[in-house]
Formats: sequence, C-alpha cells, structure tokens
Amino acid sequence: MPNKHFCQGPHCHTRPTQDRFLKSKGIIRGRYAYAKIDQTQTSWGYRFPNNDKYFCSQSCKFDWLSENMENVERGIPIPFIRERRITEGYEKATEESYGRKYHSIQKIGVTK
Ligand SMILES: [Zn+2]
Repeated sequence: MPNKHFCQGPHCHTRPTQDRFLKSKGIIRGRYAYAKIDQTQTSWGYRFPNNDKYFCSQSCKFDWLSENMENVERGIPIPFIRERRITEGYEKATEESYGRKYHSIQKIGVTK
C-alpha cells in the first residue's frame, strides 16, 4: 500500500473514471490522495499544499467543503476515510458508431 491517505472526497468512489474502475470486480474505487503523507515537494521543486495529502483532486476538495462545513460549524466530528471505498455494479461497455468503437464505464442494468 502506498504511503498515502485515501482521498477524503465524499464522492470520490462514485465517479466512473478509467483509473478508478476495476474491471475484474466491476467496481469503482476511491483514489489515493495526490501527495504522499511524508512528501513535501516534488523532485522539480513544487511544494505540495498540505491538503494534497488528503485529496486526489480539486473537485474532491470542494465536495468535502460543501458536504462538511455545516458539521464543522456545529462542531460535529467528520469521519476520516481510512479504508478504500467502492461502488459496485459497473461494467465496461462498448458502443459502435460509424465503424468506430467507443468504450465507456456504465452502471449495470442502467440504459442510457
Ligand atoms: Zn478524490
């Protein structure tokens, strides 16, 4: 396991992107955070903001803020995500259009 936290984005494990998709199990997996826990900068000198140790992307940061700021305001603790979260029930779909094949990740049983 990499020396990283799991992304704390509340919806990270529900976004059907190629890198989150595990075809053999038909699941969408939450990502790891962008930066390693003990990493402060890249080899070319870019210094990570501390929040990169907790989120994979800007959209996950904003999701977290939107979802949790009311809890912060009320003093309600927010659970820290310590296990990889998944969403089940996805499959790779192939569509053909004008002789070209397009691949996508689709929820099983849901037709567009
Ligand atoms: Zn994320």
